[in-house]
Parts: sequence; C-alpha cells; structure tokens
Amino acid sequence: MKDAQGVKRVGNILESTPGQLIVVVSAMGKTTNALEILVPKLNDLEAEKLIKEIEDYHYSIAKDCITRRWKEQTISTLNKVFAELRETVKEYPADNYDERYDQLVSYGEFLSSRILGSYLSDEGIPNIWFNACSNIWTDNNFREARVDFTKSKKYFDQNVPIAFENANIIITEGFIGQSGSRKKTTLGREGSDYTAAIIAHCTNAESVTIWKDVPGVMNADPKKFEDAVKINQLSYQDAIELAYYGASVIHPKTIKPLQNKNITLFVKSFLSPEEEGTRIDGAITKLPVPCFISKTEQVLLSLSPKDFSFIAEENLSFIFDSFAKHKVKLNMMQHSAINFSVCFDSDPRKLPGLLQSFQGNYRVLYNDNVELFTIRYYDQATIDKVSKDRNILLEQRSRYTVQLVLK
Ligand code: ASP
Ligand code: MG
Repeated sequence: MKDAQGVKRVGNILESTPGQLIVVVSAMGKTTNALEILVPKLNDLEAEKLIKEIEDYHYSIAKDCITRRWKEQTISTLNKVFAELRETVKEYPADNYDERYDQLVSYGEFLSSRILGSYLSDEGIPNIWFNACSNIWTDNNFREARVDFTKSKKYFDQNVPIAFENANIIITEGFIGQSGSRKKTTLGREGSDYTAAIIAHCTNAESVTIWKDVPGVMNADPKKFEDAVKINQLSYQDAIELAYYGASVIHPKTIKPLQNKNITLFVKSFLSPEEEGTRIDGAITKLPVPCFISKTEQVLLSLSPKDFSFIAEENLSFIFDSFAKHKVKLNMMQHSAINFSVCFDSDPRKLPGLLQSFQGNYRVLYNDNVELFTIRYYDQATIDKVSKDRNILLEQRSRYTVQLVLK
C-alpha cells in the first residue's frame, strides 16, 4: 500500500475473498526506511523535517481514500499517533540503538493498519483492528526478536475468536511484537510475511496469501533477467532454500511455521489478483527450471590461523562465536586445512568489531561489495550465464545447489 490506489486495491481483494480473514499489513511505501533515519539522535529541526514528510505522506493517502463518515475520526487518530511519535523521537533514550530502533520503526505498521481499517469502515466493510504487539510475544533481542510461539498461541486462542465475533476481517500490523518486559520489538526487515506465518500457525489457518507486485515466485529477478519465468508450484523445501539465499518475495522465516502445520502458502500479484500465482506446500515437486538468486553487498572474508593450526573444532568454535556475538549471519562458508572463507551481508555497523575480534589470532583478508549467486537445480549453461565476464572468487556445489561469489 504505497498510495490511495493501493489501499483501495486491498479493499477490492478483501471484498472478493470469502471467509474469515486476518489481514497483516506492512508499512506504506518507503516509510520503514524513513523511520530508520530517525533512530540516531538528530537535531530537533532535522528530526521535525523528517517526521513532517512521513506525516504529510500518510495524511495525503488517508485523505485520498477516506472521504466520508470516517474522515474526521481518522484525522484525529493520526494526529494523536504523530504527537506520540514526536514525543518518542525526542524522549526515547539513544543509549541502546536497537531498542530505540524498534520503538520508532514500529510506527509504520501502526499507521498503515489504522488507515486501512478506517478506509474499510468508510466503505461499509466491517473490520476490527487487532493489536499485534499485545498478541505476538517475543524475547528482547531488538530488531531480530525471537517469537515465543507457546505464549503467543495462548493469546491468539483467547483473542481471535472474540475479534471474529465482531467482524469477518481482522486487520493487524506485520513485523512487530512485544517483549516480556513490554517493549515493542521488530522481527527483522521485511518481516510482515513472517508475522502472517506466525498468526497462521497460532490460529491453524487454512492458508496464507502474500500479495506482491510480481506474478508469483520467479526463477530469477525479472528486473535483471528478462527471460525470468514464474514458478507455479514449489515445495516448502525449495521455497525455504530460495528465500534463505535471497529470493526477496518471501521472508526466509516464513516457511517454517507454515510447514510445521502443513499450511499452504500462496504468492500472488495484487495487480492481477485473479491470476494463479505460486502455490507452496508439502507436495514433493522438482523445479522445472534452474532458479538463480543474487545477494549483493556481500563481504567475503578469509581467515587463516597465524599459528598454522588446523581449522578444526577449536578454531571453528571461536570463529562461530565471534559471528554470533556480532549478530552477523553467514550466507556461505568453506574451509580447508588452514583457511576459513565466509560470505555475509555487509553492515558497516557490525564489520569493524567483527574484524577486530579476529585480528589477534588470524591473518584476515576480505573483499567488500561482492555478489553471492545461488543457483538451485543448476546446470552449466546457467552457471556460465551468471558468471560471464565476472571473476569467481569462491564456488561451492552440492547435489541441488551451486553458490558462486562473484566480483
Ligand atoms: N515494514 C517492514 C520493512 O519494510 C516490514 C515489511 O515490509 O515486511 O522491513
Ligand atoms: Mg515492506
């Protein structure tokens, strides 16, 4: 939902979908990125300028789609929310970056879910707003919070039937939850799909549909490869592998909660809702075509113990420990007798500390800004195609997957 037309589209889709629905919304347009800029403390003038932009953007969408009875009420709700956001930006302590991040960035979903709910009410479509924070419980690992499924399920069991007594459409916020100490938490960027999967798991939903601006899961990024084709049917196993290695249509954490309860996932386009999209379920299907996905902005790091000791248990446990401490997730790794190479997402906030932790015992080499290509069901033609005129820095093959680090 990046504009009024997007909100109206959601309304149309909901109107033509029978049954009891829980609608999980993500922030509007680029709101999450805009809110991220407010996390480091800025001077008052700069902060106000940014908030005003976010405010104007949301008011203009609300005004374009909510034109009748709900207009006044929506504007007064938005006024309150923005007053609270201004207060949070000013007052929330900056000593824990990740904690402050979650308190601020979670406003995006709050705003979008409120606007959608008001729009539907304005159109005479009964719906009820449902507070994700009071039902999805997490630990306080801010920005990447881990969900307590047992506790969350208890809340859903209790609150969802009550909500459905009032309306067949429940609107809730993606991407956010609450820690036991009652602080807002977020589940990782692009985490709204994951929220849908958590809720589906906790409520034993029949299916989940993710609505995107692409026709379904494609075998390659259509923006980069014009011969990309849509995949009609995908197994959970292939879907999780593709999502993990960067197929951005599905958040990688989405698959597990669904697979565990055998809930079907559909990926469809809101631009052509009547089309089939992609179906992901427990059926064993092999993909008809090689799938290739790229992760850009990668770092390739190579470590060799200075004392010439093997890359065996002791070195490996030190290395993995350092990655875990700096919250850096590995996308690919390979080792030989005295060399360990690993590829991960570049994050300038984490890299210096991580490198520092290896400097004492290891010879450290790294390449910045490399690309990690993963090809599932690979063939030589696809490998040649993606690596044409590029330098392959590292390569790894297993039965179904090949990974290439390219410069
Ligand atoms: N709004 C959040 C983000 O941009 C969550 C999502 O889009 O799924 O990361
Ligand atoms: Mg999003």
